[in-house]
Amino acid sequence: MSDYYNILGVSKNASQDEIKKGYRKQALKYHPDKNPGDKQAEQQFKEISESYEVLSDENKKRIYDQYGADAVKGGMGGGGAGGFSSMEEALHTFMNAFGGRGGGGGGGGGESIFDSFFGFDSDPSSAGMRQGASKKMSLTITFEEAMKGVEKEASIINHVTCSTCQGSGAADQKSIKTCSQCGGAGQVHQTRGFFSMATVCPSCQGRGKRITDPCQTCRGSGRERQKQHIQIKIPAGIDSGMRLRMAGYGDAGEGGGPPGDLYVYINVKPHDVFEREGDDVIIELPISFSEAALGIKKEMPTPIGGKARISIPEGTQNGKVFRVRGEGSPNVHGGGQGDLLVQVVVETPVGLNDKQKDLLKEFAKLEGDHNSPRKRTFFDKLKRLFA
Ligand SMILES: [Zn+2]
Ligand SMILES: [Zn+2]
Repeated sequence: MSDYYNILGVSKNASQDEIKKGYRKQALKYHPDKNPGDKQAEQQFKEISESYEVLSDENKKRIYDQYGADAVKGGMGGGGAGGFSSMEEALHTFMNAFGGRGGGGGGGGGESIFDSFFGFDSDPSSAGMRQGASKKMSLTITFEEAMKGVEKEASIINHVTCSTCQGSGAADQKSIKTCSQCGGAGQVHQTRGFFSMATVCPSCQGRGKRITDPCQTCRGSGRERQKQHIQIKIPAGIDSGMRLRMAGYGDAGEGGGPPGDLYVYINVKPHDVFEREGDDVIIELPISFSEAALGIKKEMPTPIGGKARISIPEGTQNGKVFRVRGEGSPNVHGGGQGDLLVQVVVETPVGLNDKQKDLLKEFAKLEGDHNSPRKRTFFDKLKRLFA
C-alpha cells in the first residue's frame, strides 16, 4: 500500500499549507491535460487526489495516521477499482482546491459534476475508449437501520458488455474493418487558421474501426442493457444527505474503457422520538411537575436499541439537558460514538380533580419565594426598574 505522504512528496508532520502545496505540485505534473492518453499518469493523478482528500481533512487524516488507508476507505462498498476515486472525482477535488477548469465549478454544489465526464472523448491515443457512465440512485432507510448499519438489495439497469460479441459490436471478426477516413487512428486533423486540431473521427466516432456486419444482439453498440441485482453495504452511523460510492457499479466502459461508478444517496426517515445532530442524538423526556420537583430515576431507550438509566435530580427545571456519554450514533467513519442528549420537558398538570386542587392550594400557602428562584430574581429586577 502506497503512503499518502510519499505520494504528495511531503513529510509526516507537514502542515496543511505544505500538504496543499505538495498536492498542487504533484497534481499539475500528472494532470490529464498535460498527459493526454497516458494511463499511468491518470492512475497517478487519481492517487494524488485521493491522498490529498484524506490528508486535507483533519478527521480522515487522524484516522489514516492511526489505522492506515483501509480505515479511511471503510464502508464504501465493493468495487474493483481498488478504492481509488474515479477520474471525475479526482478532477473535482482539483477544481475544489484551486478552482478553474471548465468554468462553473469551484464553490459548493458539485452534483452536476457527476453527469459530465472529462478527458476521455478527446483523448487521442485511446481511440474510442470511453469510461462507462456513472449512475445515481437514492435509497431511503429507517433510523434504526442507519444506527446499526444494514445491507440492502437493489436493482439497477446498467449497460453491460454485450455477451454475444464480447463488446466488439461486430457479428464476426471478418466484419471489423479499419476505418478508411482516419486510417485506424480514431482522429482526424482539422486546420483552423494557424492551428491544426485533432478531433474525433466522424466516420468511426474514434473507434478506428468500421463494422460492416453489426452484431444482432446489440446492433453494433457492443453493449446491452441488463437488470442487475446488487448488495449495498450501508455503514452504521450514516445520515441523510451522505453518499456512498460503489466503484465500478455503473455502466460498462466502451472500447476497453473502465466502468462508471454508482453513487447511492442516502435518505434516513425521521424517527418518532429520536432526532440526530451530528453523532449526538436528542430525545425529549416529558416528566410531571412533581417528578421534576422531587427527582426520579428513568430508563431511556438508546438509538442503537439498548437502555440507559438516568437520574433526574430534585428541582430539575424545564429544558434541562442530560448527556449520556457514548450512547448516541456510531460515527460513520468508525471514530467512536456520539452522546445521547436527554432533554427534560416539565409538564404542568392538567385535569386536576377537587382533591388534587385542594392539596395544591394547601401547597401554595406554604410555598415561599425561595422555591422559585427565577421568579424571585425576575421580580427583583422589575422592582429595581420601577423604583
Ligand atoms: Zn453485440
Ligand atoms: Zn475513423
